[in-house]
Amino acid sequence: MPSLLIHNATILPCDPDPRTIIARGYVFTRADRIAAMGAGDAPEQFRNAARETIDARGKTVIPGLINAHTHLFQTFMRGLADDKPLLRWLEAAIWPGAIAMTEDDFYLAALIGFIENLKCGATSVLSQHYIQTSLQNMDRVAQAAQTSGIRARLARGYADRDPYHPRLQESPATTVRETERLVQQWNNSNRIRIEFGPLIPWGCRADALQNIATLAREWNVGVHIHLSETRDEVEMTRRETGMTPARWLHSLGVLDERWQLVHCVWLEDDEIKLIADAGATIVHCPVSNMYLASGTPRVIEWRKHNIPVALASDGPGSNNSQDMLEVLKFTACLQKVETLDATALLPENVLEMAYRGGASAMGLRDEIGRLAPGALADIVIVNLQRAHISPMYSPQSALVYNANGNDVDTVIVGGEILVREGRAVHINEASLIADCQRAAEAMWSRAGIRKLDADYRRLTRKK
Ligand SMILES: [Zn+2]
Repeated sequence: MPSLLIHNATILPCDPDPRTIIARGYVFTRADRIAAMGAGDAPEQFRNAARETIDARGKTVIPGLINAHTHLFQTFMRGLADDKPLLRWLEAAIWPGAIAMTEDDFYLAALIGFIENLKCGATSVLSQHYIQTSLQNMDRVAQAAQTSGIRARLARGYADRDPYHPRLQESPATTVRETERLVQQWNNSNRIRIEFGPLIPWGCRADALQNIATLAREWNVGVHIHLSETRDEVEMTRRETGMTPARWLHSLGVLDERWQLVHCVWLEDDEIKLIADAGATIVHCPVSNMYLASGTPRVIEWRKHNIPVALASDGPGSNNSQDMLEVLKFTACLQKVETLDATALLPENVLEMAYRGGASAMGLRDEIGRLAPGALADIVIVNLQRAHISPMYSPQSALVYNANGNDVDTVIVGGEILVREGRAVHINEASLIADCQRAAEAMWSRAGIRKLDADYRRLTRKK
């Protein structure tokens, strides 16, 4: 049984209080779980039992970060989609690019995205994949997750009606059949699990949503949906149904604690209450909300209603990176500037959201996002003794405001070391980067991306 001892480390267990610091301690893992941890020297029994020992002197051990919303096919769209609002961003870059991608492109795009997530300290990722131009695309994304070794929740995205792009719609029967096939194939461990991913209220039929909500309970899987990301989308739903999007979902009787509601930038007061009562999780993507000029969500209000709030990068098409340490800083700063209150979110509040909310989004409450005996051994060792961090007054502050993905030293998922000294252990990164560049350039030319981008810029040029 693989076992690992990390010792001489500063430890932030985040269990449950992110302010707790073990100045010098150890963590011992057996198989895929944390078996023991504590302050001081590791007891002899663990020193003898460990198959591998890591001396983490001068480094800080944290629970693996949880990136609760992304779309990894968009690694092939980094920088293509800059400077556009959501609906134009879809039309001018994401849709044409995605339609031109092959099954192999989806594998490569997801793999480089999972590797980036790992290298930046995310041990868990929730990726919604909604391009089903071939029924094998989702299999390729799941294979990429498996190759990377990351813990993944893969939401099988779909849209089933206008005005979503006709080429990217599928029938409700296909959605259910394919999701069931994938659930049966993958959901037999806690490493990779498939769930439902209805894309957006304005692209999803009411009866189909009610059906998948019933199946999600039956199959014990989550439901992942974008909600009220932009003002225009809220108006689309209001014109069609007479209701705001969260109220509409509530009227269908679908919302429960399995649902992960992404963005929620334009929620009204009554919707916040409905979401709190349903027990759903909200996923906050501050960088994406700024990048697409979507608006500033009322995170402080959500927290007052005890809604679990997870944090996420969103897809590489609207961020453009996957660095969750960077997301921590944006989370705090965006609420400070919105409320004009420097105490709006403290580092411990941000870490609490990232870990507690993230675990809730992943359907792994108490299993991840904390270092404690019995929890899954998803562990990250960060080097905070760097010129851009030192001298360090508070490790929590350093993590939220100073650290970035390049400071991640070691990444462990389920007791297995996947990143060592900042490098992926099982992947040849140089050849993966070269393969992705070649495949993405071919896709850009098939899709005519440069012309679409030039046309858009001509139309919107400012004097
Ligand atoms: Zn998204």
